[in-house]
Amino acid sequence: MTKDQLLSRRRALITGAAVLGAAGTAGVLAARAGDAPVPPAAPAAGPQAQPALRPSAYRLQPLTGEGPPPPEPAPTLVRHEPFLRMPGRGRTMLLTFDDGPDPRYTPHILDTLAEYEVHASFFVCGEMASYNKDLLARMADEGHVVGNHTWSHPLLTRLRRGRIRSEMERTSDVIEDACGERPEWFRAPYGAWNRTVFQLGADLGMEPLAWTVDTEDWTRPGVRTIAGRVEKGAAPGVVVLSHDAGGNRAQSVRALRDYLPRLIDAGYHLTVPRRQYA
Ligand code: ZN
Repeated sequence: MTKDQLLSRRRALITGAAVLGAAGTAGVLAARAGDAPVPPAAPAAGPQAQPALRPSAYRLQPLTGEGPPPPEPAPTLVRHEPFLRMPGRGRTMLLTFDDGPDPRYTPHILDTLAEYEVHASFFVCGEMASYNKDLLARMADEGHVVGNHTWSHPLLTRLRRGRIRSEMERTSDVIEDACGERPEWFRAPYGAWNRTVFQLGADLGMEPLAWTVDTEDWTRPGVRTIAGRVEKGAAPGVVVLSHDAGGNRAQSVRALRDYLPRLIDAGYHLTVPRRQYA
């Protein structure tokens, strides 16, 4: 498959997701599918041009309301804290997998998610991603969210601004190269956030997502313990943290096979984060 075909498939998936998710923006995405990317901050020209909305103005528009959709690309608000949960309708939960991809474990996780037709988020490290772009492309193709987890997984709060920026930007570049889209979500390694990290994330068009339930699967506590932590922590809006790389993750792979069908049986809808313009 050529890269263009890959991009078309990706766009088609995005359009489909938008139709399911936010009806208010679906028309815009559908209209753009197949077009060249819109250059950043390009002012609309011609007699039909709409006046550009200031960021503060478009932020006030309801996501699903009537009226014109927000301009693209939308500037990202600088947050002061990460999202810890993702409110949605009904029993919705998010599964997230960090530090990958790792060809020994990530494909098994993708297989299980595909078997149950469930979407998850993968916060990848650029260094790992650069060796496994095929896995990133598969994630995107199968409808998962590929997020930015820095290049080399450092403690960002100990780094200078330029190094933080490089850690984040290089990773977004690899994700764009493999998936055809720059990431919209960022997660700081070790959950170590500060003002610079929020600012740079917003500069790069990303929202910060942390988690609600930490499985601590990286300590390899056993498959039953990992699955038990997920099921005990299950509640609407909960974001679950697991890992598909960074060591032996066989337990994480097997635990997913245990808890995923049980979450589904309990009525949970596993989904991916949606940007909230508020
Ligand atoms: Zn991590």
